[in-house]
Amino acid sequence: MYEEEVMDTVAEEATEEVVYQDETLVCKECGNEFVFTVGEQKFYAEKGFVNKPKTCKACRDAKKNAGKPERQYFEAVCADCGGVAKVTFEPNPERPVYCSACFEARRKPRD
Ligand SMILES: [Zn+2]
Ligand SMILES: [Zn+2]
Repeated sequence: MYEEEVMDTVAEEATEEVVYQDETLVCKECGNEFVFTVGEQKFYAEKGFVNKPKTCKACRDAKKNAGKPERQYFEAVCADCGGVAKVTFEPNPERPVYCSACFEARRKPRD
């Protein structure tokens, strides 16, 4: 009559797999909720990270980029003081380039 019950005991040996699920976390930086996705969780597991991210991707990206200048800078010799002038355009050898200090000084009216 109850033959089916015997079958069940065999299946229990199956290896337990970690089941990942998207997780909603709250960013410590901006307070917004963000999703710790399955892909990210696997990435973290692969890298051996035990802690969950504390900040959202936007905040993490902002931090990552904080030290880097967004634009490309060219270095030239300041035509005024001879110091290093960093400019956002490729310096034209025929035109004088000024460092930021000299540029500011020239822009301001002297009197
Ligand atoms: Zn954030
Ligand atoms: Zn200068």
